[in-house]
Amino acid sequence: MEHPTNQPRPVTVVTGGSRGIGAATCVRLARDGHDLLLGYVADADAAERTAAAVRAAGARCVTVRADTSVEADVERLFDTAAAALGPVTGLVNNAGVTGPLGKLADARTEDLRRVVEVNLLGYLLCCRRAARDMAGPGRSGGAIVNLSSAAATLGAPGDYVHYAATKAATDALTIGLSKELGPAGIRVNAVAPGIIDTDMHAAMGDPDRPAKAAAAIPLGRPGEPSEVAAAIAWLLSPDASYTTGTVLRVSGGR
Ligand code: NAP
Repeated sequence: MEHPTNQPRPVTVVTGGSRGIGAATCVRLARDGHDLLLGYVADADAAERTAAAVRAAGARCVTVRADTSVEADVERLFDTAAAALGPVTGLVNNAGVTGPLGKLADARTEDLRRVVEVNLLGYLLCCRRAARDMAGPGRSGGAIVNLSSAAATLGAPGDYVHYAATKAATDALTIGLSKELGPAGIRVNAVAPGIIDTDMHAAMGDPDRPAKAAAAIPLGRPGEPSEVAAAIAWLLSPDASYTTGTVLRVSGGR
């Protein structure tokens, strides 16, 4: 839903906005009337490409390199958003990693640590700062969307049970924080995608994974990033004004 034109434009922080679901979300939110702080960790070229698409859609966009697992980086991300764009009204907690595919018995400790630090500690640091900003004096609330995964309930045996565990934690974070922040007018929801066609599968060692998984998906195909972005945009929009504490599955029926 497009943002009403007689109100200030929402200012939304999207972590991992350079590529994949985050990039599609930035472009979709720009079309819906948001100004954007686009966070990324390494791929500056991808961040600038997405930022150009956001600006072409008529939105303001600032890119910031920030590792969401590092407290000082998260603080700088939100400080920059407020200074450059105005008070932050939305957060899409999207930056995530899986590490290599495989059984837990074969996983390296450094990969487990990285997945927990980015997917869980990073989400907590971003949610904490968003809660402080959105519930501060003179503020009238906001909305947070956390990227979970269908893996949170499927468990992802043989692939990445550690990643699935961080996504189940995301669901618990979403439910608990929605209850903490509801009285301040802040809605907190999650989107749980199934297998979506992004770079993430190549990064975990199997670029053909989305195509190979199609037969096990009731809708018969992997999802597109834009199909997840649509759900995120709805949860941030006034159309979702009475929706909080929910995990919206976008998985083709899986
Ligand atoms: P992706 O294509 O691999 O992109 C990952 C994004 O996260 C990139 O923008 C990357 O930045 C950023 N990032 C990674 N580590 C970061 C860190 N420490 N700090 C800040 N940014 C960081 O991933 P995706 O498939 O779009 O996934 C996005 C979210 O959806 C994740 O939370 C993922 O778990 C979830 N999800 C994905 C799928 C799927 O099938 N794709 C399914 C379920 C859930 P750079 O470009 O700078 O590297």
